[in-house]
Amino acid sequence: MRILITGSAGFVGSHLVERFLNEGHTVIGVDNYISGQVSNTDLFREHPRFTFIEADVSHGIPYTGDSLDWVMHFASPASPPHYQQFPVETLMVGAQGTQNGLELAHAHGAGFFLASTSEVYGDPHVHPQPETYWGNVNPIGVRSCYDEAKRYAEAITMAYHRSRGVNTRIIRIFNTYGPRMRPDDGRVITNFVHQALRGEPLTVYGDGSQTRSFQYIDDLVEGISRLMMVEYHEPVNLGNPDEFMMIELAKVVEDVFVNNIQMVSIPLPLDDPKQRKPDVELARKLLGWSPNISLQKGLNLLSPHLKNDQ
Ligand code: NAD
Ligand code: UDP
Repeated sequence: MRILITGSAGFVGSHLVERFLNEGHTVIGVDNYISGQVSNTDLFREHPRFTFIEADVSHGIPYTGDSLDWVMHFASPASPPHYQQFPVETLMVGAQGTQNGLELAHAHGAGFFLASTSEVYGDPHVHPQPETYWGNVNPIGVRSCYDEAKRYAEAITMAYHRSRGVNTRIIRIFNTYGPRMRPDDGRVITNFVHQALRGEPLTVYGDGSQTRSFQYIDDLVEGISRLMMVEYHEPVNLGNPDEFMMIELAKVVEDVFVNNIQMVSIPLPLDDPKQRKPDVELARKLLGWSPNISLQKGLNLLSPHLKNDQ
């Protein structure tokens, strides 16, 4: 297949590029490096079936090559510090970027695959979160540039499916980690493991009782690959249902990386969701998929990659 991936120089995008190249497909990566890394493009630059286009997909996707089978839209800042630094760009890539991807898919008769997020559930009142939950999002808060962009992206994806017949997929990704995240991306796993390796105290926001559920990248990539093969157009959660308070996460980081970590309390950011855990029954039934890499195991897999970053 010929697959165009927006956000190819990002964390998740670079793992998709790798998977599709390994499976023998041709891949076109598109990125403007707003939150990605040139080193993630360099990994594949010499590959005969990989081409890279540096472009802001909110302004258009300048692809003029042969017929595409898939447009995978993964471009968007994803870490709260990144999207709060670039709120307008984040809204644009969720809105115009998604529409440009849908138009390209429509023109090529290709499938369109949207990376949405558990953030569409906001600070959830239903726990764990099934796909049928409509969410609790502050439409004007500091996270709204991301949450509402993704909610709009889902809406326009369903509209192109319903009214233009585009063969679409939507996934809602829950907190995912692995190699090739930017060491300075500010997400909790990157912060904690780098702080632990540097011998610094772990920055726990608030009292650390808020929860998240962490998925290792390989489980996510497997779920994406399976969903491409199944005709299902409504959103599908992909995440690991093992739920941890942030102070519990700190203990797991201590077990895997160093003994006797210190913690320092930092004020809780505004609108930080108190709890998050995916209901993955739909993915289990539809895809025969379930995550099988525990947090402990995933951090062990991550560890050798991080030591190179110090
Ligand atoms: P990332 O920041 O590492 O990667 C995103 C990539 O998109 C970056 O390389 C960035 O430069 C690129 N990009 C952003 N705006 C662009 C634009 N206008 N034009 C071209 N390129 C642009 O983030 P990630 O963790 O790899 O996330 C990838 C996708 O998955 C995002 O859409 C994100 O919302 C979604 N997602 C990720 C997670 C997670 O835990 N990693 C959770 C939920 C959703
Ligand atoms: N967090 C933390 N310390 C950090 C970074 C984040 O305690 O150094 C908390 C944050 O308040 C949130 C959780 O960890 O409750 C997950 O944050 P992250 O930015 O990774 O992703 P989110 O799920 O909030 O988008």
